[in-house]
Amino acid sequence: MCGIIGYIGNKEALPILLSGLERMEYRGYDSAGLAIVNNRSLLVEKSVGRIEVLKQKTKNKNLYGNLGIGHTRWATHGDPSTVNAHPQFDASKKIALVHNGIIENYQSIRKMLEKEGIQFESETDTEALAKLIGFLYRGDLESAVEDALSQVDGAYGIAVIHSDEPDKIVAARMGSPLIVAKGTDENFVASDPAATLEFTRDVAFLNDGEMVVVKHNEIKFKKQRKMITKEFETLAYSLEEIERGGFDHFMLKEIYMQPQTLEETMRGRLMLKEGDVKLGGLRDVMEQLVKMKRAIFLGCGTAWHAGLLGEHLFEDLAGIPAETEYASEFRYRNPVIEDGTVAIAISQSGETADTLAAIREAKRKNALTIGIVNVVGSTIARETHAGTYLRTGPEIGVASTKAFTSQVLVCAMLAVKLGRLRGKLSHEEAFDLVNAMNELPSKVSEILELRDQIKAIAQRFSQARNFLYLGRGYQFPVALEGALKLKEISYILAEGYPAAEMKHGPIALIDENMPVVFLAPRDPLRSKLISNIEQVRARKGIVISVCNPNDQDIRSISNEVIEIPQTLPQLAPILSVIPLQLLAYEIAVQLGLNVDRPRNLAKSVTVE
Ligand code: GLU
Repeated sequence: MCGIIGYIGNKEALPILLSGLERMEYRGYDSAGLAIVNNRSLLVEKSVGRIEVLKQKTKNKNLYGNLGIGHTRWATHGDPSTVNAHPQFDASKKIALVHNGIIENYQSIRKMLEKEGIQFESETDTEALAKLIGFLYRGDLESAVEDALSQVDGAYGIAVIHSDEPDKIVAARMGSPLIVAKGTDENFVASDPAATLEFTRDVAFLNDGEMVVVKHNEIKFKKQRKMITKEFETLAYSLEEIERGGFDHFMLKEIYMQPQTLEETMRGRLMLKEGDVKLGGLRDVMEQLVKMKRAIFLGCGTAWHAGLLGEHLFEDLAGIPAETEYASEFRYRNPVIEDGTVAIAISQSGETADTLAAIREAKRKNALTIGIVNVVGSTIARETHAGTYLRTGPEIGVASTKAFTSQVLVCAMLAVKLGRLRGKLSHEEAFDLVNAMNELPSKVSEILELRDQIKAIAQRFSQARNFLYLGRGYQFPVALEGALKLKEISYILAEGYPAAEMKHGPIALIDENMPVVFLAPRDPLRSKLISNIEQVRARKGIVISVCNPNDQDIRSISNEVIEIPQTLPQLAPILSVIPLQLLAYEIAVQLGLNVDRPRNLAKSVTVE
């Protein structure tokens, strides 16, 4: 998820590695490290926090050598700490490995190696791969890496070096990006061309399943243990463009990352055949969770909307009474917390001050507390009794997008797990839900292809002064989230409302200038929603419907339709929010606003 850089050539590796890591700082990270081969031994430095700290630590340390690898880590398994930072090592401490991604079967690899007497130091999934490579090493790094990777499930971009083979870096990719950059008598590997752009613009992009052995004057590509040829291309774009991954804004990049981020959230957690879910971080408290009498979701802003969906999912799939509270209100209300109450904090950063205070209040009153957060080792992650990480990688755009869809997905996975354990969900129902989850990433990709259509709608309505977003049931929180996105980045006043509630007030606002976005996928409330659409039409409002394909009923009463693939109603919010993210984005761009830095907003709200 974060950054990898590797160098082999005639120059000193240290300043090149440090500068490559600095270039990747924009991606966000929590710790960093590097290893350099010097006279057949590894010199290593690691640190928690900024690259500047690592830089200071390397000063006056004689970290000389012409071969090295470096890493910025964004923790998924184990807190951000020096021992968990990469590189990770094999048992002989001769092999150093940096890794982006998640090794799904790390626990079974670790157990197998521990039985062989190999000791582990870190909590990372990565260390299992480093130790496995060492275990399989018979004097040839290239084949040890190939052998190890054939036993690994999951996603990785890796770079590996061995102090006895100081002429090469072995690197491979499966699901996490990796490039090779070609210089003169020197070569690089990196997870991001931003890291190597100042040295060379000639790069080759690895595809999944490909490996590369990089020497200072030779680059050998392989796939399934056979040599392949790959073309290098000369990058024409600027550093800034690379940072945004070719997108105009981080927010857009993050919207487009959602097929991958949802995949990461589910990685190794879905049991498709069994119709069940595994959530390792909750194992120790699962018994208490199954017995819970009430769930309280706590969050702010977008995370509060995810909580509303969590509430719905818990009631619907697990039969657990649930409610959602604004964290900032909950904490000052002297809330009544009875035995068997579980407080579930949702926060992207894990540092949201109001949510943290609310969870402390719940804890003080003896509730079991659970965190659904993105940043590993963050305060909420540390202070809750247990939790589940989102694993969506750093979110840079201030308006949250990919964190929201993963928050909802985690709530859905947890609801399925509890529904099964509480005997509320049948095997068939859980099977259908889990398999529908598995199909979400490809369905999100289909929706992302609608960008041009959504842009055209944005062009038509960007001058509107107000917007209404309406939905029912599972789609009501989506209406709130769609309205919030528009407010946050376009500064247009937008209201999200339960569609039926509209007639008790907001209907007074409707006239021929008022766009009303209806969330209308096929679900049990659709026919009711159709009546609500008619009520808006009768007042000449402009109807923009998000619906499933070939829905003639909705089409015939809408001015615009955005067609999204169908899924189960419980998961439909994860799809229907995507066009709303894009709509808000395109309207803000139309208005010439700074999408990534909306006025007055901060990414991580650490004040009350
Ligand atoms: N899963 C690995 C870890 O937690 C790699 C994280 C990353 O991609 O930075 O150490």
